[in-house]
Amino acid sequence: MPGSSIPIHKFTSSSEVVFFTGAGISSESGISTFRDPEGYWAKHDPMQLASRQGFKADPQLVLSWYGDRRESIRGSFPNAGHLAITNFQKLFPHSVVITQNVDGLHFEAGNERVIELHGNIHRHKCLECGTSIKLDEAQARTLNFCTCGGSVRPDVIWFGERLSMEILNQAHAAIESCDLFFSIGTSTQIYPAAQLPFDAQRHGAYVIEINPDLTPLSSQVDLSIRELAGTALPKLYEEFYAGLS
Ligand SMILES: [Zn+2]
Repeated sequence: MPGSSIPIHKFTSSSEVVFFTGAGISSESGISTFRDPEGYWAKHDPMQLASRQGFKADPQLVLSWYGDRRESIRGSFPNAGHLAITNFQKLFPHSVVITQNVDGLHFEAGNERVIELHGNIHRHKCLECGTSIKLDEAQARTLNFCTCGGSVRPDVIWFGERLSMEILNQAHAAIESCDLFFSIGTSTQIYPAAQLPFDAQRHGAYVIEINPDLTPLSSQVDLSIRELAGTALPKLYEEFYAGLS
């Protein structure tokens, strides 16, 4: 029931914990997000910039835009929410991060076992055969080709593309065995990711939502905290640290 206090006594260091994150935790680091009305999509046509068709029509436009996004991400830093997850992972060695964000800030914060549902903007792959291809930033801003002849593209999920089955299976495996699930800064509106908190609950996890805004999940979870991740997560960490040790 929302508003109740967390039954910390039910959890131990061997509890399996999932931190599921969305755009909100990145926006606390100053990164513009898809849903943000001031963000990129207000200024550009999403299909032109983030679809296979858009890339084929004008690869240079897409590569320049991703280059600009990476540049803005490089000027951003993990926030108190990301860093609290690093601390939580020391309390719960069997914890996993599942993120919808592509900015890599979880890695930068030292988070481990990070499952990136939508890819990573700093990585690249072949449009045709999917092979991972390493590029430096200067290379990444121009069109490169794989040995198969395919164009090299950012390794992120575009509109009209399915999530990788392998990645989704990893996420589902974590969710099926999890005892405690945090849904952090996600609107729970984009499927299939939006289903994950409900799946966790169905498998018996205690679900805590952290989001300043009401979402379709808010009334369903065990505890809904209407705060920013950078505010709520450090406090929750202190609470768990005191309760577990
Ligand atoms: Zn290829």
